[in-house]
Amino acid sequence: MVNKIPVAILGATGSVGQRFITLLHNHPWFTIVSLAASKQSAGKRYKEAANWLMPTPLPENIGSIIVQEAEPNLPCRLVFSALDSNVAGDVEMAFKKGGFIVVSNASHYRMANNVPLLVPEINSDHLEMLEQENSATGKIVTNPNCSTIGLTLALHPLHRLFGVEKAHVVTLQALSGAGYPGVASMDIVDNVIPYIQSEEEKIEGEPLKILGTYCPDRREVDKANISISAQCNRVAVSDGHMACISVKLKVKPSKKDLIAAWTTFSGEPQKLELPSAPAQVVYYFDEQNFPQPRLHRNIDKGMAVSVGRLRDCPLFDYKFSLLSHNTIRGAAGGAILCAEMMVKKGFF
Ligand code: NAP
Repeated sequence: MVNKIPVAILGATGSVGQRFITLLHNHPWFTIVSLAASKQSAGKRYKEAANWLMPTPLPENIGSIIVQEAEPNLPCRLVFSALDSNVAGDVEMAFKKGGFIVVSNASHYRMANNVPLLVPEINSDHLEMLEQENSATGKIVTNPNCSTIGLTLALHPLHRLFGVEKAHVVTLQALSGAGYPGVASMDIVDNVIPYIQSEEEKIEGEPLKILGTYCPDRREVDKANISISAQCNRVAVSDGHMACISVKLKVKPSKKDLIAAWTTFSGEPQKLELPSAPAQVVYYFDEQNFPQPRLHRNIDKGMAVSVGRLRDCPLFDYKFSLLSHNTIRGAAGGAILCAEMMVKKGFF
């Protein structure tokens, strides 16, 4: 792309905001022009406002940007939001009213009727719900919950071929999922916390919209008829959410066919060769002790999901383990893939 699209990051100093910076710096289509955060950070140079925790050095030109308040006066049309969920609702709406296109990681608008909840490999057609909106006003597109994205990428290839009726999901979620500084070390060292606020409701609800069918005449998504039960745990892993999943299918396939459904699955981002699209969406491991967060979270730039330990389930049909990178595929990388899809669909 000759002229890159200027973008801003709201909540640029946090856990997800920092990921956005690493993924957008040198992005072939987008260029960062503004960074915004709270009043406490505004006015400081980024390198003084943020406690940089990424494994690659902070690019010098980014470190010297003066952080701004998150107000809809930024010199771009596209903003990525990694705002704290307590403030995201009002700030994102102000940007939408100001004519901006907001790609959000926050949960506030995910289940709203006129807001796509997007996993581009699964439901990029849901972007149609924005086409009927007045083109002069802004738009909000949402990235699902971090565990939901991995879960739907594992369930969708099975749902379209065999029909998923029920899923039982137990998550083991990384510390970076709680933002920065997140959970106190005295709470999590030598420990597992069997509670993450509002997480189970999101994992039980969001997949039904993502896997649902968009009906243009009603401008609504007919939700998928799947029952999901989730139990969420915080564990002392830096990045990478695991999930142990049991599924009941309408038609029980052989293990071989089920594995083939995952490994041959490919979506529109792969067809369009979007810059952030993983070459293979779902990796299957035969090894009986894989996938593991430390070893496999970065597969395919952290944008692929990994599954393994497929075996018969005495309660449902099959059970398996799943891993996805929560701040890449589950947040910043997933949101950038949504924006790349919007570029291809002519939103800019
Ligand atoms: P975080 O580390 O706590 O960062 C929050 C960001 O919001 C910081 O940049 C903070 O700026 C900014 N902020 C706070 N109050 C503000 C205000 N009043 N006005 C403007 N900016 C404000 O949180 P996070 O983990 O990055 O999560 C960001 C969002 O993504 C949340 O909505 C979260 O639910 C969602 N999400 C997170 C993950 C994950 O794995 N972490 C995954 C999916 C979705 P200051 O530094 O100036 O306070």
